[in-house]
Amino acid sequence: VGDLNDFDSETESVCPFCGVGCKVSLKVKDGKVKYVEGINGPANEGRLCVKGRFGFDYIHHPHRLTTPMIRRDDAPEKGLNVDPSDLSTHFREATWEEAMALAGDRLSQLRDTHGGRSVAGFGSAKCTNEEAYLFQKFIRQGFKHNNVDHCTRLCHASSVSALIENVGSGAVTATFNEIENADVAIVIGSNPIENHPVAATYFKQFTKRGGKLIVMDPRGVGLRRFATEMVQFRPGADVSMLNAIMHVIVEEELYDQAYIEKFTENWEAEKAHLKGFSPEAMSEICGIDPDQLRRVARTFANGKAGLIFWGMGVSQHIHGTDNSRCLISLALMTGNVGKPGAGLHPLRGQNNVQGASDAGLIPMFLPDYQSVTDDGIRKAFTDVWDSDDFSNEKGLTVTEIVDQVYAGNIKGMYIQGENPAMSDPDVDHARDAFAKLDLMIVQDIFLTETANFADIILPASALYEKNGTVSNTNRQVQRVRPAVTPPGDAREDWKITVELAQRIGLDWAYEDVSQVFDEMKINMKSLNNITWDRLKTETITYPSLTPTDPGQAIVFGDGFPREDGRARFTPASVIPPDEVPDAEYPMIMTTGRQLEHWHTGSMTRRSLVLDAVEPEANCSLHPKTLRRMGVEPGEMVRLTTRRGSINIMARADRAIAEDMVFVPFAYVEAAANILTNSAIDPYGKIPEFKFSAVRIEKAQTE
Ligand code: SF4
Repeated sequence: VGDLNDFDSETESVCPFCGVGCKVSLKVKDGKVKYVEGINGPANEGRLCVKGRFGFDYIHHPHRLTTPMIRRDDAPEKGLNVDPSDLSTHFREATWEEAMALAGDRLSQLRDTHGGRSVAGFGSAKCTNEEAYLFQKFIRQGFKHNNVDHCTRLCHASSVSALIENVGSGAVTATFNEIENADVAIVIGSNPIENHPVAATYFKQFTKRGGKLIVMDPRGVGLRRFATEMVQFRPGADVSMLNAIMHVIVEEELYDQAYIEKFTENWEAEKAHLKGFSPEAMSEICGIDPDQLRRVARTFANGKAGLIFWGMGVSQHIHGTDNSRCLISLALMTGNVGKPGAGLHPLRGQNNVQGASDAGLIPMFLPDYQSVTDDGIRKAFTDVWDSDDFSNEKGLTVTEIVDQVYAGNIKGMYIQGENPAMSDPDVDHARDAFAKLDLMIVQDIFLTETANFADIILPASALYEKNGTVSNTNRQVQRVRPAVTPPGDAREDWKITVELAQRIGLDWAYEDVSQVFDEMKINMKSLNNITWDRLKTETITYPSLTPTDPGQAIVFGDGFPREDGRARFTPASVIPPDEVPDAEYPMIMTTGRQLEHWHTGSMTRRSLVLDAVEPEANCSLHPKTLRRMGVEPGEMVRLTTRRGSINIMARADRAIAEDMVFVPFAYVEAAANILTNSAIDPYGKIPEFKFSAVRIEKAQTE
């Protein structure tokens, strides 16, 4: 980096990776970001993790897309076969005029020939709130249906579904920083030291001042070193374990009767349901000693204020909604919502997955989770949009859209900043589907695996090149600002969507991104009192109750946004994983992220420091498992499920159970999602990434 004082400009923005939403200052020299510093945002107070501090240089990588590209007439068959450093074998450069005219004409043609439902869209949690809003509006207004979704479907869709059902809102009830006021906290199905590292620093501080931390996970995640209790339960056994804990709370009358009476409904049904879940009966299913289950129940229920944090270990199951229902019930019965140091907090993954969901980038909800089935709500939006009505049916989700593409019913897709050819479960199926599309428009910053299948590629902008707002896991709305300009002819995403809308005949006339924000505010109560002007200098936690209120860190202290103002207990029963180990596939595979790499790796694997630290695809197995197979750490193993096989380097990890393997999903050369199961949760429609039956062998060397 050299002299830290030698820069031309500095710009405040927000880290582009995880949902913590750390505020950063970008120091720019000669048109390039030279280094990044953490600054005093409410979520990070100056802190950054390795991704935020060192993972910025991908934006200057030579693989950046700098000009629109059109698939050549003589290109080889569609497949995962394009060299990202030489696109000329498959694509030719085009002007924006040519690419946009072609994209607009072909989208209109599909709509006019086969109907609006022949086109679907995936937007992005990597884009701003304004871009997410415009993207869902593009599909709804332009094609008259709701087949628009994004990666929340692969992330916390089941948590959101349970939260909306039982507390009336899909967002967190307390910021993670509220742990400063808690005396007990549960972190379940989450590995914050790697996935939300700055949030994890607050969790560690909490334990240093005597807070009781209960970590629950089938993997021995790093936070166990700080835990009062590490509960390493069997994969997929969340409901049995949580119901057993709640059984103890009922049996020993540790619940908060006054809170239950004042703020909840369906308690008697929950209580009756829990009778059948004694720790002794559940111990065999979840693998946890009854004494520990009782201890955990007492520790949590006897705390004065308790928080529950959860991650994808909870949500990515066919019973993900049931898992979240249990956590909600646990918080409600102990009176742990709506007061300092207490609450429910699904740790959101992507930097703007909260904001993109709030902005309506989901098939069943318009902005602010307003149902598409409600005629009055749709009218409120079409009045603002000055457009005709659109479908009152809930739209298709990510995996359902891919299935309809495969079946030939969806013929065209517009994909902005998502990489489903890496991130979808059973990804070979998704890739086969994309190869069948008549028209695939991909808007991104790199030639992602998904862009390999594109007909038209539109070069877009990275977060540090954008203007707009993003919302983090804490419901905090923050401004992002361009520190540098996009390379070559690349453009900001919102401008591309606006022009494409005009090309399909929509009368869109936005000239500045603040106009999009102002339009969003008309039908989004969550943005009341939050103005573009305030956001110039403030981070605001929605809801903000007055024009000067910085926002509410804790919500629902005086009731819930449900019809009767009460939260609901929804009992959950034990449902086994979709496929259980058998003689042919005797072990359990789970997938996730690593500290250094972000999701499908398109950004972090192009970041010098991060790629140098973690350059090779790897999986983690217990040393005893490796010994049994005659495999040394560093050697290759072959993982096979009912969907396919990959060869991958094995690492030893004592913290993983002997019948499990953990596989990060960032590596295209050993793509974990070739192996994962596409079975989905019936409510949140989220795939079961966290449980596949797998066979593991030493890989044959040639
Ligand atoms: Fe970025 Fe998340 Fe790390 Fe903060 S914790 S620097 S938001 S990746």
